[in-house]
Amino acid sequence: MDKRKKILGIDVDIINKDEALEIFKELMGKEGFDMIVTPNSEIIENATRDAELAALISEAGLIIPDGIGLVYASKILGYDLSERVTGVDFLTEILAYLSDTGKSIYLFGSKPANEETESVADMAASKMKEKFPQLRIAGTHHGYFKQEDESAIVSDINASGADFLCVALGSPKQEKFMKAHASEFTSVRAGIGVGGSLDVWAGTVKRAPEFYQKHGLEWLYRFAKQPSRWKRMLRLPVFMGKVVFGGRNTNNL
Ligand code: UDP
Repeated sequence: MDKRKKILGIDVDIINKDEALEIFKELMGKEGFDMIVTPNSEIIENATRDAELAALISEAGLIIPDGIGLVYASKILGYDLSERVTGVDFLTEILAYLSDTGKSIYLFGSKPANEETESVADMAASKMKEKFPQLRIAGTHHGYFKQEDESAIVSDINASGADFLCVALGSPKQEKFMKAHASEFTSVRAGIGVGGSLDVWAGTVKRAPEFYQKHGLEWLYRFAKQPSRWKRMLRLPVFMGKVVFGGRNTNNL
């Protein structure tokens, strides 16, 4: 795809929401399993040091740049990323499409049930059904499993007959899971790694208020809420520094 460009040597698709949706629909219409990834600057930075992750990203059917860091990077590199498509928002678009077309989704990942609450995936499923009453949820599974449980989870996904898979294990675990089992999926046509989005749907993690979203300050809000993430946050200025000082000179655009 000619819209596929490189940021720090890692592939991303420079597309707006409508273009992303068109590609998504194509993936849903064709045979085989395709992966959708929504890398932010932290994931791109990780991928520069993780060849397996870099390859996974470039093999994806759709690579949606997520986060303000990639918007700025695109501007610096002269790419026309006119509209920002966040992973959480794109998931909502996907749910609307699935609901309209009668296709089903399987939610895999996030915290299991405990004595007080059902699993995050089940809570997210209820909230999704509230917003999209026609949406078919084929199944759910929490994301805290041992490696030997993986084939049973894949069997459950296949038995559910789901058309689409949503994987919330954090990156790069979610992408590596999809890649490892891509050839085993029977009904699933595409899957997306959504990080903490099921928590946002379930209401267990609050999304930043609109003000922060509009001004590209979601990182600041998350920092205020979870100061323990400060080390991860430092990756943003590191990433920007690499784009500004490395991007133009090293011809890795
Ligand atoms: N998670 C999981 N299994 C694991 C580790 C994490 O299901 O072994 C879930 C976790 O509960 C959360 C999501 O993966 O719902 C990752 O959240 P995080 O905010 O770290 O993701 P990010 O979007 O920052 O990659």
